[in-house]
Amino acid sequence: MSQPLGSFPGGLKLAGQKKRSTQTPIRKMPLSEQLILPLQQHIGSAAVPIVKVGDKVLKGQRIATPNGHVSVALHAPSSGIVTAIEDKPIPHPSGLSAPCIIIETDGEDQWIERKVTADFTQCTDHDVRQIIRDAGIVGLGGAGFPSFIKLNPGIHHHVDTLILNGAECEPYITCDDMLLRERSQGILDGIEIMQHALRVNNCVIAIEDNKPEAISAMELALASRSHLTSTSVMVIPTRYPTGSEKQLIQVVTGKQVPKSGLPIDIGIVLHNVGTAYAVGRAIKHGEPLISRIVTVTGTDVKHAGNFETLFGTPIHELLSFCETKRQQDEPFIQGGPMMGYNLAGDNLPVTKTANCILVGVDNATQANDPLPCIRCGDCAAACPVSLLPQQLYWHSRAKDLEKTQEYNLFDCIECGCCSYVCPSEIPLVQYFRFAKTETMNQEQERKKSDAARIRHENRQERQERERVEKAEKQRKRKAALAATKAAKAKKDAELAAAEAAKDSSEPATDNDAEK
Ligand code: SF4
Ligand code: SF4
Repeated sequence: MSQPLGSFPGGLKLAGQKKRSTQTPIRKMPLSEQLILPLQQHIGSAAVPIVKVGDKVLKGQRIATPNGHVSVALHAPSSGIVTAIEDKPIPHPSGLSAPCIIIETDGEDQWIERKVTADFTQCTDHDVRQIIRDAGIVGLGGAGFPSFIKLNPGIHHHVDTLILNGAECEPYITCDDMLLRERSQGILDGIEIMQHALRVNNCVIAIEDNKPEAISAMELALASRSHLTSTSVMVIPTRYPTGSEKQLIQVVTGKQVPKSGLPIDIGIVLHNVGTAYAVGRAIKHGEPLISRIVTVTGTDVKHAGNFETLFGTPIHELLSFCETKRQQDEPFIQGGPMMGYNLAGDNLPVTKTANCILVGVDNATQANDPLPCIRCGDCAAACPVSLLPQQLYWHSRAKDLEKTQEYNLFDCIECGCCSYVCPSEIPLVQYFRFAKTETMNQEQERKKSDAARIRHENRQERQERERVEKAEKQRKRKAALAATKAAKAKKDAELAAAEAAKDSSEPATDNDAEK
């Protein structure tokens, strides 16, 4: 077992609230009659459908293909018929709809033929990444970034350490904890494949010390693979937000990711343990990513737990399966109480980034009307990025976006520590999200107006060029005309002169004398 080498400023010791959902093993959610599959379940461009309405599809069959580099494929989570490709509400704070493929399942759950890679060490790192991309794998910690990109450090970077994120620091969420407990060998399969793709031996599986069962399971699994001599479990202190990328790297290695930099800049690649498990299933079992473990928990959930759920399963089916006290249309949270977001309706599908559905939370967020800021400084003390939330608040409130930039608004990881400790119960993170959105909108507007200005200038230049060319043509035409006229006049004069000369040189005749 290795020891943490660093720490980060601020952070919070929060009540875990994890017992409620870890009393039973992971259960399988029953197959839904209808699966709703958004084409965009990842960061990047939405996948493009390759099926049409009426097509019969098999479980695991590719139904949408990646669109561009930052994109992944999408697969049918069960067999059935494609009944529609249309906009449907998606689980997003905006409440917006987006294009989805809808499958009516046939109850057969019939797999497509699966292509198993018996010995991945015979594959090139490029081939491994391609399989992972084709399997539709994205970061399952909640971000949804295509995993094959993070497994490609490029020729200019050397990877020193692979870190597996098993911190799961937000209260209530336990899907990674249960995965570590029950599927530790599968996680190790994925880790070995990731090590091969990255050509790295050093690997640290970081788990918070409030998960003793997960730590034991992982250590036991690791002991059965004696060839993994440079892979170790690291038990790290339970503190929120240790699971955030830069904070975890600081705890594990003692190194700081440079401002505006990436972990690869200091030789580190970090993946979630759920992602490693998915990688193992894709390569060793030929299974694309069609399901995930979802924690369903909260004070209003009767049978909380973790459920292996096919993507596209309507959330209301999960909620009724677990029996909740929730009234229809009552909002609930997707994600944790600190970084999750409220969803109004439950006729929304489970997607690749849905780690937790939370119904009923102990008082973790502000419910009362905020009071004025008393400049106590508690928010700054809690900030894990060493920002000055109080200053950010003033400038966000005043919509002074330039000033928010000066105070490094975009370094804010929206962890919510500042809001949580604020005695005036000011929803600081909401102000920061607003300021970020405004800044990005302004930036987009600026880009649009820059593009319009450039278009206008180009048009003016083109018009001026055309005017000059036209004038030059006219000038040449006139000159040519004048030259023609002059030539003609000259020729006429020459002819006339020749005529005159001819007349004067001819001898006088009798007729002339008679005249
Ligand atoms: S914690 Fe709240 S009251 Fe205290 S300085 Fe920060 S914003 Fe103001
Ligand atoms: S939400 Fe942002 S400002 Fe507030 S504590 Fe977290 S990182 Fe700091």
